[in-house]
Amino acid sequence: MDLKKLGKMFIDGKWVEAASGATRTIIYPYDQREIAKVTEGDVEDARSAIAAARRAFDSGPWRSTTGAERGRLVGTLADLIERDREELARLESLDTAKTFEESKVDMDDIAGIFRYYAGLADKDGGEIIDSPIPNTVSRAVREPVGACGQISPWNYPLLQASWKMAPALAAGNTIVMKPSEDTPLTTIKVTELAEEVGFPPGVVNLVLGPGPTVGNELAVSHDVDLISFTGGIETGRKIMQAASGNAKKIAFELGGKNPNIVFADADFDLAVDYALNAVYFHAGQVCSAGARLLVEESIHDRLVEEVKKRAAKIKLGEAFDPKTECGPLISEKHRAKVERYVELAREEGAKCILGGKRPDDPELQNGFFYEPTIFVDCTNDMRIVQEEHFGPVLTVEKFSTEAEAIERANSTTYGLSGAVWTTDQNRAERVAAALRMGTVWINDFNIYFAQAPWGGYKQSGIGRELGKQGLEEYTEVKHIYQNLATEPLNWFGAS
Ligand code: NAD
Repeated sequence: MDLKKLGKMFIDGKWVEAASGATRTIIYPYDQREIAKVTEGDVEDARSAIAAARRAFDSGPWRSTTGAERGRLVGTLADLIERDREELARLESLDTAKTFEESKVDMDDIAGIFRYYAGLADKDGGEIIDSPIPNTVSRAVREPVGACGQISPWNYPLLQASWKMAPALAAGNTIVMKPSEDTPLTTIKVTELAEEVGFPPGVVNLVLGPGPTVGNELAVSHDVDLISFTGGIETGRKIMQAASGNAKKIAFELGGKNPNIVFADADFDLAVDYALNAVYFHAGQVCSAGARLLVEESIHDRLVEEVKKRAAKIKLGEAFDPKTECGPLISEKHRAKVERYVELAREEGAKCILGGKRPDDPELQNGFFYEPTIFVDCTNDMRIVQEEHFGPVLTVEKFSTEAEAIERANSTTYGLSGAVWTTDQNRAERVAAALRMGTVWINDFNIYFAQAPWGGYKQSGIGRELGKQGLEEYTEVKHIYQNLATEPLNWFGAS
């Protein structure tokens, strides 16, 4: 595979370098080896891409394309992603250092997402409204919003991009996608596939570069009708302000601080197994990571002991080594953030019973590794419990009643997801109803799929991705009303 080809932006149907000529080196987080050089866009490039998307929406052939035709194109993109699954997965693992196995599963999910929205593209013919006025026809139809800016993060680079690209295109919008500057490779590759599919020029545009310049331009521009963003809450606040100039629509998927609640009557072995998965999968760099474990008092010590025993055996390593269970963090900057939270937890009185440091293994010294870590004796007021650290760090809290578990679980400013483990069906439903979160899992964790909506309550987001709701985000609703027997009103000056 020639990674050198993967370095350009796609604007108005052409592959281009940044006007400034600047480049960025992409590294493999396992050992910091250079894997690619990509062009580094700036505000000027973002403006060209926005202008292309605007033109393609306002005057190109795209707006008169039928839902069936859009579905065919989006479905063909799914086919090509399946065809190039291994290559895409390899690029994703090089970019993020997540295991190759995990990346392959991501690619299957991504193809499924394009396929799902391909299927929805021609299913909504609008709604006939029961008009209260005789001899009239009233209907509501959904139309595309327009030119959309889309900004994605580094933790699931192509998966997060696909949650935006697929519904936006299926609904008939034009897009300017900006992936994270740290992990652009698979998004570039999928844009190549979109070119192969044959979307009209300007419908799919890709810009590369930093958030504060390129990303900000997408948020600020009055030619962008909607900005969709996945990332941290601080960035979300900036984008919200930048987007206010033309009151563009916003669709946000922000952070999470997701409680995993285990009652004493839960299946103990399953709860242990899933608690590990919830927090250590992809080294905790998951918006829905179960970094907060809430355990009922009577089983607390036994459960913590089991989780610790297994966490101590997690094999850190290289993405393409089949023995590797967990890779490094994405960057030195991010590892420093996780380390700051660990220090803070110690200062606030939480007790570290595992990890809490970088691994000693000489083979891991060039990567951004951090040991699986567990803190017990955690309380609600600690910052490590309230704030998103996005690393392999589990905090454990004890509770004695259902009401206390719910209160603690709801006590953060986030509301993305949470789980409840119990064999009492009534309790499961009560707790699920009481949690203020966009997703609640009962006896499971971290499950999402194309058909079900995903998004956050409170400061975890605005709007929904996935499901039919994810398509609706990319539509405006128009009411069309026709009078079949118009008669004079004679209201003004008729006598
Ligand atoms: P980030 O906010 O630092 O960056 C995300 C994207 O925003 C990047 O493309 C970045 O270049 C861009 N950006 C940065 N500053 C910008 C600005 N001023 N204007 C416009 N764009 C800007 O987030 P990250 O570190 O890449 O990702 C981790 C965060 O993403 C975590 O908080 C995580 O919870 C969240 N996340 C949420 C979901 C979800 O579904 N809710 C999914 C994945 C990740």
